[in-house]
Amino acid sequence: MTISQRARNLVPSATLAISNKARELKAAGIDVISFGSGEPDFDTPEHIKEAAVQALREGFTKYTANSGINELKDAVVAKLKRDNGLTYARNQVLISCGGKHSLYNVFQALLDPGDEVIIPAPYWVSFPEQVKLCGAVPVFAPTAEAQGFRVNRSLVEPKVTPRTKILLLNSPSNPTGAALTRDELQGLAALAVERGLWILADETYESLVYDGYQHVSIATLGDAVYARTILVNSMSKAYAMTGWRIGYTAGAKEIIAAMDGLQSQMTSNPTSIAQRGAVAALIGSQEPTARMREEFARRRRSIVDRLNAMPGVSCLNPEGAFYVFPNVSKLYGKQHAGKPIATSTEFSAFLLDAARIAVVPGVEFGNDAHIRISYATSMANIEKGMDRMAEAVATLR
Ligand code: PLP
Repeated sequence: MTISQRARNLVPSATLAISNKARELKAAGIDVISFGSGEPDFDTPEHIKEAAVQALREGFTKYTANSGINELKDAVVAKLKRDNGLTYARNQVLISCGGKHSLYNVFQALLDPGDEVIIPAPYWVSFPEQVKLCGAVPVFAPTAEAQGFRVNRSLVEPKVTPRTKILLLNSPSNPTGAALTRDELQGLAALAVERGLWILADETYESLVYDGYQHVSIATLGDAVYARTILVNSMSKAYAMTGWRIGYTAGAKEIIAAMDGLQSQMTSNPTSIAQRGAVAALIGSQEPTARMREEFARRRRSIVDRLNAMPGVSCLNPEGAFYVFPNVSKLYGKQHAGKPIATSTEFSAFLLDAARIAVVPGVEFGNDAHIRISYATSMANIEKGMDRMAEAVATLR
């Protein structure tokens, strides 16, 4: 076999696969509603597009500094001060080609083969795969639905070994939407400091939180945890900029320098004009994000109610992000078209077949009792999709 062991061991992104499948069915004229996508259905705000167009017109189309333009690093520093109460210097910030690339750089900079990374489950699909690409080992800390998928010290501590290097925290979480409280974060911060762990805080969904929940950055909880935290964030979700591919990391300057070196041999700088757009997003009006948040809140309320009204389905009301993670396992053991349904993959296939709605099986996120439904789609699609799902579920025997 010519293909490397590394590439063969990799599980390709299931969420991208579902989106592609829904796109293909739509292209074939089949009326599929996609709840698979992890991207806002809103357009990128006008002032952000304008900044990129202007950059293009000015001829800002050449390589930039590998680590990103100073203007964007300064905008990130200002944002982290304004929104998170955190102080960073320019040399503590690296701009990368999307949050996914930022995370990849962090893992590549810190992990040696055999090192362990604690990942609370359910988890975003790319976390364990990126860890494995370093020859390191993902160690899952399963959270419980009955406790709102919350992560706390007592859940993580038993997973710490002498090989643990990183504790990964993704709050609000993809796929559960669970967002951690200050108390929970304090316990986790104390554990990381006592045991000498790095905390990788993925705050991609920090601005999409509901019902008055206040996002807390773990790095604000004292000097010791600040020194041990590597914060990753992305322009994709907060500013509807998924296609622009800009993410950033803030943390200890030695780690940022190592990541800068890796990036210099892998991608070089992120796209010049996208960086200018990101500057406008971070320093410009935050109104568009507030409007998206309001709309997501409305949809979340509707979708959670609709799901809980379906016999055999139960769904928590998550604090953040734009996903719900309903439990459908009470329906396992029933049949569709003579075929038994026993897993989240089979349940998702049933929904695609019988309701023409695309969702992602929970098993991809480490929990087979659930499915992930993204509500980053119009209210009309949500209503139609939930009608179809309710009808299909009612036919199960
Ligand atoms: N982190 C989490 C938890 C995500 O869900 C995503 C995207 O789905 C990302 C990071 C990366 O986003 P991007 O690479 O578009 O910046």
